[in-house]
Amino acid sequence: MTEPDVVTVRGLRKAYQARVVVHDLDLDVPGGEVVGLVGANGAGKTTTVECIQGLRRPDAGTLRVLGHDPVRQAEQLRPLVGSQLQDSALPDRLRVAEALDLFATARAHRGAELLDQFGLAGRRKSAFASLSGGERQRLFLVLALLNQPRLVILDELTQGLDPAARRDVWAAVRQLRAAGTTVLLVTHEMDEAEALCGRINVMRAGRIIDMGTPAELVDRHARRATVSFTMADPPAGLLSEVSRLDGVQEVRQAGTRVTVRGDRRMIAYVGAALVRWEAVPADLSVRVPGLEDALLSLLGTKPADDGAPAAAGSAGAPLPDGIQFTGGRQ
Ligand code: ATP
Repeated sequence: MTEPDVVTVRGLRKAYQARVVVHDLDLDVPGGEVVGLVGANGAGKTTTVECIQGLRRPDAGTLRVLGHDPVRQAEQLRPLVGSQLQDSALPDRLRVAEALDLFATARAHRGAELLDQFGLAGRRKSAFASLSGGERQRLFLVLALLNQPRLVILDELTQGLDPAARRDVWAAVRQLRAAGTTVLLVTHEMDEAEALCGRINVMRAGRIIDMGTPAELVDRHARRATVSFTMADPPAGLLSEVSRLDGVQEVRQAGTRVTVRGDRRMIAYVGAALVRWEAVPADLSVRVPGLEDALLSLLGTKPADDGAPAAAGSAGAPLPDGIQFTGGRQ
């Protein structure tokens, strides 16, 4: 049985002065899931999560968060939602332990354990101003979790953290998920979204333009894989056969470099053909698209390719010194 939605947003609209930055937005966050909200700078992600938290008043739309209206029932909602927001700050002189006291409600528990878990046990007496960027982020996460919230909102959670600290924070989010806490995660890091989120909402210019699991988004928007290798003198007929294989969209030869593009299943067919022709190159490499490619394609920026100057999504013009085959069975 699926849990009821923890957040339901319908028709959310928010303008600053006359400028509408969130347009008629619908968003669902099912209970117990980690849901991502991604999109370019200025897409309206922070504005949306601030409305969900009751920190901003929407101009139109209905919002239900844990059964409450965040505009009219902000008081009831506050202890149920933990948040680490993008521009969080604390007074410079406030010590870590004092911050925990300040934020703790009757629901608070495990303050010492959380400090320990996030590597801040030794910083209890340190002033906020003396913490590194990573320590500050970790302190905000501790504060977000302190009151055992049912919904946690994390906005650019791992910004500025070193790779090891990022992994620690990811592990903490996975623990939250395992404990059944619902998480709404705003991020620019596609590896983070891919690692943590069960489903991802993609926002552009104030609207959700697609939603799905990371795998669904990749399948819809970045199906093309690339196989490339060096072959000084390909056997006659090999490349034209490759161009007709299932899923192959184009084959390019530039000097000794051969690049084959198509959807992912072509990788197996190309490999099999090379074996059949007894022409397996030593440097064969495969590039499979990920969430970042899907997002770049979805948000209208061409994905970075593997060095070959082909236009994504089109057959493109042949390289000056190249041969190009286009087609194959799709
Ligand atoms: P980022 O990824 O850069 O954090 P975002 O997707 O979270 O961006 P928002 O911070 O919600 O986007 O901003 C959406 C738009 O609204 C931006 O153009 C921003 O400049 C503008 N904006 C945000 N807050 C205000 C404000 N208080 N007053 C006026 N304009 C604002």
